[in-house]
Amino acid sequence: MPESIAQLRSAFRGELIQATDDAYDTARKLYNAMIDKRPKLIAGCVDVADVMAAVRYGRENGMLTAIRGGGHNGGGLGICDGGLVIDLSRMKGVRVDPAARTARVAPGCVWGDVDHATHPFGLAVPSGFISTTGVAGLTLGGGIGYLTRRYGLTIDNLLAVDMILADGRFVTANTNENADLFWAVRGGGGNFGVVTSFEFRLHPVSTVQFGPTFWPLEQAAEVLRSYRKFMLTAPEEVNGFFAFLVIPPAPMFPEHLHRKTVCGIVWCGTGTVAETEKATIPLRSIGTPLLDAISPAPFPVVQSTFDSLYPPGLQWYWRADNFTELSDAAIAKHVEHGSKLPTMFSTMHLYPVNGAAQRVGKNETAYSFREALFAEVIVGVDPYPANSQTITDWCKGYYDALHPYSAGGAYVNFMMEEGQERVQACFRDNYGRLAAIKKKYDPTNFFRVNQNIHPAT
Ligand SMILES: Cc1cc2nc3c(=O)[nH]c(=O)nc-3n(C[C@H](O)[C@H](O)[C@H](O)COP(=O)(O)OP(=O)(O)OC[C@H]3O[C@@H](n4cnc5c(N)ncnc54)[C@H](O)[C@@H]3O)c2cc1C
Repeated sequence: MPESIAQLRSAFRGELIQATDDAYDTARKLYNAMIDKRPKLIAGCVDVADVMAAVRYGRENGMLTAIRGGGHNGGGLGICDGGLVIDLSRMKGVRVDPAARTARVAPGCVWGDVDHATHPFGLAVPSGFISTTGVAGLTLGGGIGYLTRRYGLTIDNLLAVDMILADGRFVTANTNENADLFWAVRGGGGNFGVVTSFEFRLHPVSTVQFGPTFWPLEQAAEVLRSYRKFMLTAPEEVNGFFAFLVIPPAPMFPEHLHRKTVCGIVWCGTGTVAETEKATIPLRSIGTPLLDAISPAPFPVVQSTFDSLYPPGLQWYWRADNFTELSDAAIAKHVEHGSKLPTMFSTMHLYPVNGAAQRVGKNETAYSFREALFAEVIVGVDPYPANSQTITDWCKGYYDALHPYSAGGAYVNFMMEEGQERVQACFRDNYGRLAAIKKKYDPTNFFRVNQNIHPAT
């Protein structure tokens, strides 16, 4: 007999939220306000026992079940319509072991929680470019950020996970235990179970050299041509993502540049001031920059620099691809579309994913595109729902123009719900192995609110 909500309640310490509850509309809100879903039940778990109870309830009642970490997913894959949401946001906590240089992280943490806990020890986990993103979703998809070239993707620094599987079992996965599952969660997303704890390797990162160089749009092609070459040989201590952006009207920027559409590179160097200067000056001297402002900054400050520019509740439309090279023709398309950002928040970023991330083989983890040089993400962003079509059309047009020059698939965490063909294109020849592991650990595809890997038949 299906379990009743009263039975679930008796086994549950957290909060169970239904449509009739006052907390419902807040609890179902996503970071991307373009997505509006109405689950039947939100199970706000506070511990692993709650997660076990929620998985059992979802399974026994045959409910579509989503897992929510930080709620940042572009496609809104942290919740679902009409089903159950296993909401982990109350499960916080980071334990740093400075001697072993590891950290245990609970699944409701966002990256700001981790940076806060590790920084006093002069240590950091390679994560992303913003501190409000969930640790869980970002890690399970791969994790691209300021430290990728130096220390690899986030999954390259993942040592172990604890998980609750679809049948309710608790397992640990690492390179010795359930190694197939550990392989799959390093890039395969939330397909295999609910991760209830992450163990990461930490690196000595404290103060970094951070800031942008901005150029006028007329110099964008020249900058991009130099950038593609520069990133092939730049020391791994140097990271710099390329962007088309509108300079925000913030006090940190000179007033005459406010609201100007430009191209730029946002630098983050983990070497000394002198090393970073020496390595980056050749590119920063290209053309005539409008602003060149690199200075030392604590790593958590760097990680949270974009938080206030991108608060929760904006409309977001995403498209992405991987690139192994940037041809002159692709650069021309970038300049054409990147120059026409439709709103102040919209942007295009090219993240370098070479260096340490390329020293892991494409079949060593589920994340497949190890030969890519750049992960591209195009995002139409705006506060006003009335502009959602405009940002969507621009984003799709930009993506369509660049996709023919791409390596064929994207970083899954930069995708919306784009269909099975696109999911397979992300995993390429890792997809078959992922499908076999999915069959072993989740044969009924209970966890399918994600970039879904179908169980092998
Ligand atoms: C503003 C912004 C900036 C971003 N910047 C970066 C960046 O710099 N680098 C980068 O790599 N990515 C970045 N991303 C993409 C980000 O990695 C994905 O959106 C990711 O899915 C967010 O994770 P979350 O936990 O917040 O998401 P959620 O919406 O909560 O979940 C996303 C997916 O993860 C799965 N999931 C969540 N928690 C668990 C769990 N505990 N166990 C199993 N599955 C789980 C769910 O199945 C769901 O499908 C950014 C996104 C945004 C919106």
